[in-house]
Amino acid sequence: MRKQLLLVLTLVLTGAIASAATPPPHPYRLDRGSGELRAIARAISAARIHADILQLVSFGTRSSFSSYRGRNGRGVGAARKWIAAQFRRDAAADAGRLQVRLLRFTVPRGRGMPRATRMADVEAFLPGTDPRDHRIFVVGGHYDSRATDLYNGTIGAPGANDDGSGTAVVLECARVLSRYRFPASIAFIAFEGEEEGLFGSRYAAQTARAHGLDIAAMLDNDIVGGDNTPGRANHDRLRVFSQGVPGRLTPRQLRLLAWLGGTNDSPSREVARYAAALATGYLPGFHVVLEFRQDRYLRGGDQMSYNAAGYPAVRFSDYYENYHHQHQTVRRVHGVQYGDLARYTTPAYNANAARVNAMTLAALASAPPPPTAVHYAPKLESGTTLSWRASPGAASYRVWLRPTAAPQWTEAVTVHGTEAHLRQSKDNYFIAVSAVGANGMASLPALPTLVFRRRARKPQHAAGGSR
Ligand SMILES: [Zn+2]
Repeated sequence: MRKQLLLVLTLVLTGAIASAATPPPHPYRLDRGSGELRAIARAISAARIHADILQLVSFGTRSSFSSYRGRNGRGVGAARKWIAAQFRRDAAADAGRLQVRLLRFTVPRGRGMPRATRMADVEAFLPGTDPRDHRIFVVGGHYDSRATDLYNGTIGAPGANDDGSGTAVVLECARVLSRYRFPASIAFIAFEGEEEGLFGSRYAAQTARAHGLDIAAMLDNDIVGGDNTPGRANHDRLRVFSQGVPGRLTPRQLRLLAWLGGTNDSPSREVARYAAALATGYLPGFHVVLEFRQDRYLRGGDQMSYNAAGYPAVRFSDYYENYHHQHQTVRRVHGVQYGDLARYTTPAYNANAARVNAMTLAALASAPPPPTAVHYAPKLESGTTLSWRASPGAASYRVWLRPTAAPQWTEAVTVHGTEAHLRQSKDNYFIAVSAVGANGMASLPALPTLVFRRRARKPQHAAGGSR
């Protein structure tokens, strides 16, 4: 224990003198150094990702107003067929376990749509091996693109970075992860209609909600190609955006948030922290930067559709963007080149973005579900007592702590059993619990449900205790 404290202290001190560009290391380690996660990261290919982007650009435009059927190999329909063919090839290599389907829908006229428009998402679904585990982890990106004129379906719209790069991440994750087996399921989805109003992701998220699907986390990849503008090139930092306060809170829950904090602990934010921690552990020199907002100023993305449907979801994006290279008709004006061209992307960076996604999906889908009914003991005490209901498949639990103003978990305690006694006060720390499988993989952290004396229930004293 003393050794652990010394390590934490060392990490804090080294963090304090590190430059702002290098986030301090932290002990939020999610596994024991998994060989499987390393193998998955190694299997991701920058060359394949680059080839995918070139192929997507070759369709000329992927505007949702271009040819639905993709005649003559041009337009969004041709791109859709090609994406489905990639997934089917993975399915063939995997004895058909990967299930490929189109989610077809029609967006009616109105709300920015000049006419009713047929669209379709392309999904590959990798079923989990545990029939009792209903969790689904989703990775998505949008395959539609746009020119300056949003409604022009004929003019060129290469969309290399926005969002050929995210589509390439989805394809590469499907290629690599479909060779593995996970207890929980993974869905790989290329969305349409993002540029006009997140239509494809809204359809997929609302359909999932209507069917009561348990989407435990959604990872959106939008503009992850690593724009290489000199002086503003993306090399070592990828942003992850996450919603702070979830929608759909009751007035009572909002009052509790205002009182006790928790605005920084939405389920989406825990997904962001988890992905950032994996990058720290497995991709030295590549940092996932936590951005505590749902998306950028004046912008949005497909993760918002999942948030709106009540699911945890985050968005990955380049650290630096060049707006001359997004949503622009390809042209040269006064010596300035506009357009979302493949030559402005960085395949090595895009591959690291894919690695963050693939490792996060693999770790989460191999970990047991998080514990439920996490409660603080309803009493005043200088330390903290908390208990939880056991998670099926958990070999142990890890209790995470961070000072209330810290962005990331800073301390961890391993617990066997379903109760922990900590010397740290819950007034000075946020505290959460992950279930850890026999394979060493930790689930997403579950935060305590806030219990108040008036409503308090007796905490369950299950076997075991903290170490
Ligand atoms: Zn986009």
